[in-house]
Amino acid sequence: MNSTGFRRQKSLAILLDYVLSTTNSSVFSMKHSMDSIPFPFRSSSRPLASAERRHGPFGYTIYTSFKPWLRDEHDYRCVYCLTREAWNLSSNGNTNGFGVDHMRSRCDAPIDKVNYNNLCYCCNNCNSLKGARSLPQRLIDEPLGEHVRISEDGTVLALTEQGEWLRDCLLLASEESTKQRKLILELHKKARYDLDNAIDSMIPMLFEYPSNLDDLSSLNPPQNSRPRGLDESAWARRQRAELPRFY
Ligand SMILES: [Zn+2]
Repeated sequence: MNSTGFRRQKSLAILLDYVLSTTNSSVFSMKHSMDSIPFPFRSSSRPLASAERRHGPFGYTIYTSFKPWLRDEHDYRCVYCLTREAWNLSSNGNTNGFGVDHMRSRCDAPIDKVNYNNLCYCCNNCNSLKGARSLPQRLIDEPLGEHVRISEDGTVLALTEQGEWLRDCLLLASEESTKQRKLILELHKKARYDLDNAIDSMIPMLFEYPSNLDDLSSLNPPQNSRPRGLDESAWARRQRAELPRFY
């Protein structure tokens, strides 16, 4: 799945997660849990470096064996973009959308290939964007919050040169990422004060047609046994202002 598709799935998962969370009887406790911080980049957070870690397993010969440990170590979210497992449909209830990253790459530090202290938990999106690169050392030794922050409108602020590296390497400032963080922060803020209204405001997002409908008439397949269907496509109906807002 490409990056855009992956991020779209994440957006859907966010909404579903909120809806499902309200179908149980724990609305009261959920409201209280909304005191959490969605994107806890701050200088008081723990650095990724070894001395500050919660766990210390060793002896595995395959680095992916550390995954459950890292998952807990990093609070079930990507250390880089802070996406939680629950916000990712492909990993909701399992960990398929997340993996293990080598902070110092296997190429730069082959001796640390199965060293727990060199590994971290991150989403597949960040993992593939980072690729085989090593993190700048300061991003390993110092809290990431000293280098990047997320503002209330979802934009990312790079505070240092290393923060800029992280922002650009992982496309944290992309329109899609910023939009998603803004959505999460708005829902989080609303849910803290009025959970019911927060859910109502999600309905349009759940049932509207996507904004990027496909113009099938431009595709020119080798053959089409039902050419008249093109006029009934959602894209064509939207062009004629016949497409309803919700479906
Ligand atoms: Zn990530």
